[in-house]
Amino acid sequence: MAKKEGMRWNLDEILPAKKFDELWKEIEQDISKYDFFLPKFSPEMDRDGFVAFMKFDEKIIEKLARLGGMPCLWESTDQKSQEAKLLKSKAEDLVLRFSNKTRKISLWLQGKEIDGFVRLDDKNAERLFKTLPALQYGMMYSRKLARHTLLENEEKIITEKDMTGAGVLVDLRELIETEFCFKFKPKGKKEKIFNNAAELLKHVYSKNANEREAACNSLLEKYKENIDKFFMVYQAIVKDWRYDYERRGYESAIQVRNIGNHVPDKAIEVLLDVCRTNRDVYQRYFRFKAKELGMKRLRRHDIYAPLKIAKDEKISYEESKKLVLSTFDEFSKGFGEKARRIINDRHIDSHPRQNKRGGAFCLTLMPSIAPYVLLNYTHTARDVSTMAHELGHGIHSLYAAHLPMAAQHANLPLSETASTFGEMVVFEKMLEKAKNDKVRKAMLSDKMADSFATILRQAYFVMFEKKAHEAVRKGITAEQLSGLYMEMLKEQFGDSVDISPIYRYEWARIPHIVATPFYCYAYNFGELLSMALFARYKKEGVGFVPKIEKVLSYGGSEDPDKVLKEIGVDMCSREFWEGSFEIVRGWQEKLEQY
Ligand SMILES: [Zn+2]
Repeated sequence: MAKKEGMRWNLDEILPAKKFDELWKEIEQDISKYDFFLPKFSPEMDRDGFVAFMKFDEKIIEKLARLGGMPCLWESTDQKSQEAKLLKSKAEDLVLRFSNKTRKISLWLQGKEIDGFVRLDDKNAERLFKTLPALQYGMMYSRKLARHTLLENEEKIITEKDMTGAGVLVDLRELIETEFCFKFKPKGKKEKIFNNAAELLKHVYSKNANEREAACNSLLEKYKENIDKFFMVYQAIVKDWRYDYERRGYESAIQVRNIGNHVPDKAIEVLLDVCRTNRDVYQRYFRFKAKELGMKRLRRHDIYAPLKIAKDEKISYEESKKLVLSTFDEFSKGFGEKARRIINDRHIDSHPRQNKRGGAFCLTLMPSIAPYVLLNYTHTARDVSTMAHELGHGIHSLYAAHLPMAAQHANLPLSETASTFGEMVVFEKMLEKAKNDKVRKAMLSDKMADSFATILRQAYFVMFEKKAHEAVRKGITAEQLSGLYMEMLKEQFGDSVDISPIYRYEWARIPHIVATPFYCYAYNFGELLSMALFARYKKEGVGFVPKIEKVLSYGGSEDPDKVLKEIGVDMCSREFWEGSFEIVRGWQEKLEQY
């Protein structure tokens, strides 16, 4: 029998389980030493004293990351492990104690008025933060964010009221959904009842058009029936969002999200508009797909239908690893080396098994430990892309491993740079190596469908939200809001797809719109930005690689806007974002050639 392929990760480098209690006690003692630093905090404090404190603080945070990181990763591969859960909760308790202890100093550093301390003014903040250049940007930024916070007591009241107000509404909305029973009845077949949406949604990808139609109708019918409830919840959330952002001094509803994401308002405006004006490339894809499926025009529920062209080829884990590593080597020596380090350190958990969580992620704990990558490898081409993507995140962290822990992570605009680059170079390699054109065609069609779902669809959600927040302010009914959504769908699809009237209620089933307003652009912002950078790489060739490496090595230590400007990229320019659609157009053009 062949040797079992794949790898399970080794967590001992973070913390062997038997040493957990020892480290726990050590941190407990460290936390008590905080009191020694407290009296020294004043705007005039000397720089050495400040640096000494920050170093001390970083050491504890590192220890806490080990203490919490180990059980967290352990639990993700064994979700039933009682021991992992116990250690995780013990670590969480200590983190809570730590943040209670340090809250005063954190708020003081942010420039807040704190009892018993003289407020830290901007000038002195700059003088002190300059001593730690890698942390300066992050610390100044948290002062900027703090300007939008209210008095301590007001914040407390808001937190409490959110727990019993907006928070409950979001839960209630979910409860309404989970109680749905779906009647699934494709034409000419017997009716089936589904108790959860996931089971029903599988049929959206069915080869059978009647099944796709029945699944979509059955799903949306429920939202139509309950539209008044969904509207009531959404309207309240939108009003709450407005009262909150106005009180906190933000200029617009979306700005709250933009500032949190380190993104200028203008960049989002331009990005959304570029998505909008490039919607024709996806409409072209839908027309192409209709032809492939032998239809005159796609209906909305056909857009995820599979093309009947190639059966999936299995790619072994070892093959996939080889392909990813050799492609990375070709792209840049640094990429290859860093990916190898993650693999050689045994920081990958590769295959699905019982009680392991689904999906994939990359977790970076601290600069001195290589990141950990969780995969659920099942031998498909998509899994190869996922491997490249998650290793890309790890590579990014390793490029920034010279920085202190708090500055290692890139902020949103740049956080998907290495992952998307990794995914793109590997995708191109796979296309090149594919057995025949049929396989290439299937791969490109999947890519177009995926990119529609992550790019255009998300952009339109955000554009809808902008209009919806405006409309709620002026006053609107559930039916009018659904009409507004329908108008946006018509714009998005043009005449490439027939949209049946039931789709006007689709907005109600998008949880992010309610739970985390304007979050949907975060899904695609990083990816599109990296695609636009990739377009630059395609034009400039290998000369662009050191520029990318420089961007990566900044981690989160600099303003993303400034980092990009250094390599001649302006996030607020249309031309730059158009680059990402050149890539998408390239895929579609190739697809039509096969
Ligand atoms: Zn990612």
